[in-house]
Amino acid sequence: MAAVFLVMLYEYSPLFYIAVVFTCFIVTTGLVLGWFGLEVPVILRNSEEIEFNTRVSKKEMKQVKNPFGLAITNPASASVTNGIALTPDCIEESILTCYWGCDVQELYEALQKHVYVSRISTPQALEDAIYSKYVYREQHFVKKNNKEEKYCQLPSDAKIEDFGIVPRSQYPLVALLTLADEDSQGLYDIISMVTVIHIPDKKYKLSCRILYQYVLLAQGQFHDLKQLFMSANNNTPSLSNSSPGEQSTDRHLLEKAGLAESEVEQYEENSKDCVVCQNGKVNWVLLPCRHTCLCDGCVKYFQQCPMCRQFVHEYFSLCNQKEQDKETQKSEGTVTS
Ligand SMILES: [Zn+2]
Ligand SMILES: [Zn+2]
Repeated sequence: MAAVFLVMLYEYSPLFYIAVVFTCFIVTTGLVLGWFGLEVPVILRNSEEIEFNTRVSKKEMKQVKNPFGLAITNPASASVTNGIALTPDCIEESILTCYWGCDVQELYEALQKHVYVSRISTPQALEDAIYSKYVYREQHFVKKNNKEEKYCQLPSDAKIEDFGIVPRSQYPLVALLTLADEDSQGLYDIISMVTVIHIPDKKYKLSCRILYQYVLLAQGQFHDLKQLFMSANNNTPSLSNSSPGEQSTDRHLLEKAGLAESEVEQYEENSKDCVVCQNGKVNWVLLPCRHTCLCDGCVKYFQQCPMCRQFVHEYFSLCNQKEQDKETQKSEGTVTS
């Protein structure tokens, strides 16, 4: 009935038709402008004018030096009965203490104690904090800048073949790295590193891996180390001007604020190419996906990660502009102090 009425109106009044079209146009324009907050929508904007998206915030980072490094030598051959080979890589003389069957609950309480009660800077401090709730302990001395393999194994008389079915109350192995010399403790922000390692056994055959790696700071925070996903271009050899000592010095970035989800990384001096322009040096880490694939020039054009399409919430640079300038100057040999 209404339709018939409208058709009649249209036949008799073209003005009515024009008015309807005009009203529709005004309403649509209003909606579009309202949606984009009175800014011109992205699709209508000239690509040259794209600015930094204000929703993506740059994270303030602080660079700290981590004296510790620990890796599993051959994860495939590790088992609870046969033991595990670990390769520590430390820039100071350190002590590697391994706790087999460490209590999960007590370990996390120990990390909280590090924040609120007393710092965990020695093996004794950790043992006190976890009330010695572990099955077996072994200790190795780690020489400075020496990637010597350390073999950890439960003694045969311990008669432990597994740590029970999941969910478990014990971690198979917790490795603690602390500085051997108390004098050198003041030199670093990071005073110890706790590595939680899963080792397969009869009851739980998940392959051997590092589950968590926490760095503990002298100021009382602790941060979970997480890997960055660098765009792979390993053909480029590392810069020749860095000595072996410098290469083993892992450079770590830590979040300034003591947030739990800290993003820490190992930054190699390799000049890796940006995935977009294939030319610039990769310098920006996108969060939360941790893809490290953009150079200084390209980072501002992306609200989504070019590798996984995930929206970028935050980002931070591996190397700030001043440092980069310094490095360029160094490589050119024109440093004037
Ligand atoms: Zn680029
Ligand atoms: Zn990504």
